[in-house]
Amino acid sequence: MYLISSHEMLKDAQRNGYAVPAFNIHNLETVQVVVETAAALRSPVILAGTPGTYKHAGVDYLISICQSAAKKHQLPLVMHLDHHEDWEDIQSKVNAGIRSAMIDASHYPFDENIARVKRVVEYCHKLGVSVEAELGLLGGQEDDLVIDEKDAQLTDPASAREFAERTGIDSLAVAIGTAHGLYKSEPKLDFERLKAIHECVDVPLVLHGASGISDEDVQHCIGLGVCKVNVATELKIAFSDAMKGYLGSHPDASDPRQYLVPGMNAMRHIVEKKIQMCGSANRI
Ligand SMILES: [Zn+2]
Repeated sequence: MYLISSHEMLKDAQRNGYAVPAFNIHNLETVQVVVETAAALRSPVILAGTPGTYKHAGVDYLISICQSAAKKHQLPLVMHLDHHEDWEDIQSKVNAGIRSAMIDASHYPFDENIARVKRVVEYCHKLGVSVEAELGLLGGQEDDLVIDEKDAQLTDPASAREFAERTGIDSLAVAIGTAHGLYKSEPKLDFERLKAIHECVDVPLVLHGASGISDEDVQHCIGLGVCKVNVATELKIAFSDAMKGYLGSHPDASDPRQYLVPGMNAMRHIVEKKIQMCGSANRI
């Protein structure tokens, strides 16, 4: 009962001019950090997992952890399938109780992308599951998929309108110059393109690759229709750096109840900052 679709959550963000942060989680500790922080700040939140994450932690384990967290904090939570591609995989996770899915067929030609997304939308909407899809292609690495910067493609506004209309998606991930992973050089965001997409498309827009983008630039994007902001890399780096620091200064440490804590605290700090950046605090 506590795992909900992202449809209403993103519509509220769209109506009120803020964005819902989507944080990539991996295990018990990362779920605890995100949900405790969101609950303390009364922020709607999306817990995102790539196929690699669900494989690592196990779908049933992750669902149970997220449900328990939602119940404990009386917080409606969206558990989301981030960058899922396989139709049967999506079907089985939705049947297991997840209510928000991204079908990423962005590396296929336009019509093939539409056909793959439509199939997922038809199935998911019958079950009250919201669907995000992507048009354009982000550079960088997400799970095992690596897209070279030179092969990245920005989203075309007119195609975005056609794509949203023909697929019936709930939200659209756009490529406007962000990339997955770490930026090798200062990213240049195409705000004019985002503005044009916003004028063409009614559904909430999603910004992937927000790690490393300045708060100011992300907020500019929120003002231009972005209602969901994905954060993954910055959380991983904060967690692992703090843990490495702790283990470096405590070479005999062997208790996970101790060496995980600095990582969790560092991650908590980033989650707080991103919630403030998105303007999502005190929305529930
Ligand atoms: Zn992404």
